[in-house]
Amino acid sequence: MIPPVASRFVAGETPAEALDHAKELNERNVNAILNLLGEHYDDRRSADEDAETYVRLLEDIDRSDLSACVSVKPSQVGLDVGTHVFRENMERLADAADDTFVWIDMEDHTTTDATLDVYEELAREHGGGVGVCVQANLKRTEDDLERLADVPGKVRLVKGAYDEPSDVAYKQKERVNAVYREYLAYMFQEFEGGVAVGSHDPAMIEYTKDLHEEYGTDFEIQMLMGVREDAQYDLAREYEVWQYVPYGDKWLSYFYRRVMERKENLLFAARAVLGR
Ligand code: FAD
Repeated sequence: MIPPVASRFVAGETPAEALDHAKELNERNVNAILNLLGEHYDDRRSADEDAETYVRLLEDIDRSDLSACVSVKPSQVGLDVGTHVFRENMERLADAADDTFVWIDMEDHTTTDATLDVYEELAREHGGGVGVCVQANLKRTEDDLERLADVPGKVRLVKGAYDEPSDVAYKQKERVNAVYREYLAYMFQEFEGGVAVGSHDPAMIEYTKDLHEEYGTDFEIQMLMGVREDAQYDLAREYEVWQYVPYGDKWLSYFYRRVMERKENLLFAARAVLGR
C-alpha cells in the first residue's frame, strides 16, 4: 500500500489503480502514459515478466474506452540481458498495442544506439504505433533527430535526466536549454507530426505554442504525474496533453528521486509526514 505522501507522484501498486487514475485524467481531458516502475533487470525472467504485465495492460487499455498508452524502459524489458531480448519483448508489446501506443523511454548514453535501432525497426514495421524519447543534453541528438525525422513514429524531446560525462553531453543548464529550443524548432519544421514536448518548463511550453502557430505541426505536451498538474489541466483545454503515470511496487526509489530533485517537494513531503 502506497502512503498518501507518495500518491502525489505514483498512481498505486496495481494496474487497476493505474487505470483508475487514467480514467480520472481522461475526465479532465488529459491522456495517460502508464509506466510500470522497474529497470536494470539482469535476468531474463524479470524482463519477460514485466513485458508480460505490459502486454496485459495494453489489452486492458484496448478493451476499455480510456485514452491511455504505456512507456517502457529498455533495461526493464531486457536491454541489460541482451539487445535481442529487448527487441523480442518490444515486438510483443508493439504487437499487443492494437489501438493504443508504446513509448520507449531513453536511459543513459550507452543505451542510445540499441534503443534507437529497435525503435526504428518497430516503427517501420508497424507504420507508427511506437515512440521514442531523445535527450537534448546529449551532443549526438542533433544527428539522431535527422535520422528520426522520416521514421513513422513519435519522438519525445526531453532535456535528459542522466548525469552524463562531458565528452558526450552538455553539462550547463543554459546550454541544454538553448539546444532544447533548437531541437524543438527543428522538429516542428522537419517532422510531419508526432512531436512530443516532454518538459515542465513554462518557457519551453510557450516556445512550443509559438512554433505550433508558425508551422502548424501536430504535437503533444507530456508532463509527469504530480508535477505542475494545474498547468496540465489548463493546457488540456487547448492542446493535447499526456500525463506520465508511474505505478507498481517499486515506487519508493522513484518517489525519493522526485522529492530530492526539488526543494518544494521536500517541504511537501516533510509537511505530509508531520501532518501539517
Ligand atoms: P527543468 O529544466 O528541470 O526546470 C525548468 C523549469 O520547469 C523550472 O524552473 C520550473 O519552472 C519548471 N519545473 C520543473 N520541474 C518542476 C517541478 N517539479 N515542479 C514545478 N515546476 C517545475 N528523461 C530521460 O532522460 N529519459 C526519459 O525517457 C524521460 N522521459 C520523460 C517523460 C516525461 C513525460 C517528462 C516530463 C520527463 C521525462 N524525462 C526523461 C525527464 C527529463 O529529461 C528532465 O529531467 C525533466 O523533465 C526536467 O526537465 P524540465 O524540462 O521538465 O524542467
